[in-house]
Amino acid sequence: TQRTLVLLKPDTVRRGLVGNVLSRFEAKGLSLVALELRTITAAQADEHYAEHVDRDFYPPLRDFVTSGPLLAAVLEGDEAVEVVRALNGATDGRKAAPGTIRGDLSLSNRENLVHGSDSPESAAREIGIWFPGL
Ligand code: ATP
Repeated sequence: TQRTLVLLKPDTVRRGLVGNVLSRFEAKGLSLVALELRTITAAQADEHYAEHVDRDFYPPLRDFVTSGPLLAAVLEGDEAVEVVRALNGATDGRKAAPGTIRGDLSLSNRENLVHGSDSPESAAREIGIWFPGL
């Protein structure tokens, strides 16, 4: 079994899609290990997105992820990292496959509803940032 860090970004909360998105992870069979509504600071966004802070797309991404409450979660299950990324779909909601969260519910490259750790190593780092007690 494996754990991964998932964010339901501020657009998910703002659009009232928390239930829809969470139910997909639950229906798949993943277990909730931690779940918390939080509004993060720019410094916290920079820590989470350390690998992206120098990219052109980062300043608007930082504004977006700090724009309101988001849900941070740890999900657990067999191959949870890969399973969550498959459920999330491609980064750009306009290109993500129907049936995925982004493919069904997002029309944006930035406001794409969810984040999932991209490897077990990233998951360990991100869980340490968001839920240091785990
Ligand atoms: P995440 O890391 O959020 O699960 P991802 O791995 O599919 O998504 P990354 O390439 O790690 O995508 O980018 C992180 C986030 O930055 C994306 O989820 C998206 O919100 C934003 N982003 C990435 N590329 C762009 C872009 N070209 N324009 C605007 N926003 C972008």
